[in-house]
Amino acid sequence: MSYDKNNIFAKILRGELPCKKVYENEYVFSFHDIYPQKKIHILVIPKGEYIDFDDFINKALDKEILEFNRAVIYIVKMLKISNQENGYRLLSNIGKDGGQEVSHFHYHIFGGE
Ligand code: 5GP
Repeated sequence: MSYDKNNIFAKILRGELPCKKVYENEYVFSFHDIYPQKKIHILVIPKGEYIDFDDFINKALDKEILEFNRAVIYIVKMLKISNQENGYRLLSNIGKDGGQEVSHFHYHIFGGE
């Protein structure tokens, strides 16, 4: 399967669709999920074109992988839900049986309750 440049998150990254941005740096973009399942429900995506977790780990540069994971830690601290506070849930759906709907790799961050 090749990366679909017209997936929703690719359009958000290009600014073609609106979103409620949480954080952005050279490697990462983060925004509120449109249908929050918890009080805090944030999505974190790499700026590079990766379909899912496996694709990301197999193809991304070490720097991209490091910066992506560091951004998660930065964001949960920013939102005051880190392990020093009440904690959070980190989830990535992969493929059909994993329930992945949007084919641009992303982490869900759930917290706040
Ligand atoms: P997945 O099932 O692929 O792991 O999760 C995709 C997530 O993207 C879902 O939680 C869904 O609510 C969210 N989502 C789908 N379309 C949009 C959108 O246009 N904007 C935002 N912010 N989130 C979206």
